[in-house]
Amino acid sequence: MVTIAEVAAKSILNKSKIYDYCVNAYTGCQVGCRYCYARLFMPRYSGHAEPWGTFVDVKKNAVEVLAKQAARAKKGIVWVSSVCDAYQAVEEKYRLTRDCLEILADHAFPVSVQSKSALLLRDIDVFRRFAEFEAGFTITTDDERIARLFEPGASSVAERLEALSILKANGLRTFAFVGPILPGNPEALAAALQGRADRVLIDRLNYVDTVQAFYRRHGLEYALRPAFFEDMARRLVREFRVRGMEYEVTWGHKTASPPPAFD
Ligand code: SF4
Repeated sequence: MVTIAEVAAKSILNKSKIYDYCVNAYTGCQVGCRYCYARLFMPRYSGHAEPWGTFVDVKKNAVEVLAKQAARAKKGIVWVSSVCDAYQAVEEKYRLTRDCLEILADHAFPVSVQSKSALLLRDIDVFRRFAEFEAGFTITTDDERIARLFEPGASSVAERLEALSILKANGLRTFAFVGPILPGNPEALAAALQGRADRVLIDRLNYVDTVQAFYRRHGLEYALRPAFFEDMARRLVREFRVRGMEYEVTWGHKTASPPPAFD
C-alpha cells in the first residue's frame, strides 16, 4: 500500500554531484529497492516516518517551477531522476516526468534519463526532440528472482532488456547501469546487454552495513564482501572487452573504455 500526497515544490532543477543538474518530480519511490541509498536519508529529509517505498509526494507544480528555472539556468546535463524513479507507477497518472522533459527539450538541455520501469518507453516521442540525450536502465543482475527480491516495484529484467532494444531501434543512445552488482551470472548479463546498451556503468554496493540483515536473511552475505564485487566486475569487464563494448567501473582503480557519454 502506497500513500500518495500532492505537494508544492520550491525548486525542481537542482544541482547534482553526478551530473550538472537533477530533476525529481516525486519525493519517495514505489520501486522500493532494498539497497536504495535514498531510503537512508530521504524519509528524514522529507519529514516521512513511513518505510521507504510506501509513500510518494507528487510535486504538482513541478512543471511550472521547472519552466521558470530552465529559462534562466546555464545549460548543463540534467539527470532524470536522482532520488526517485522518474517512471515509477505514479507517473502513469501524473505524467510530471514527461511534462518536465518537454520543458527541458524546449530549452535544449542535454538529458540523461535512468529508470527501472518500462513505462519510460511511453515518452520516446519526447526523447527524440533532444539533440543530446541518452536513456538507460538499471539492470543489476540477469537473475529475475534476485531482481524481484531486491527491486520489488521494478519491471522484470527481460522487460528492461527489451526496452533497451526498443530505444535503440528508435535511434536513441542507451546505457545500462549495473549497480549495485547483485548475485547472478555476469557473462549472461554482458551477453544480454550487447547490442542493447551503448555503454555500461558498473558499480558496487555502498552502505553495506545498512543492508546486512536483509542479505543475511536470504543467505546472500557472500555478496556483500569486497571480493564478490571485485570478481563480478572483473568478469563483466572481461566480457565487455571481448565484445568490444564501452564500459566504466566507477569505484576503486577506475577503468573505462572510450568514448565518454556526450562527446
Ligand atoms: S528505483 Fe532508485 S530511487 Fe527508487 S527505490 Fe530503487 S534505487 Fe531507490
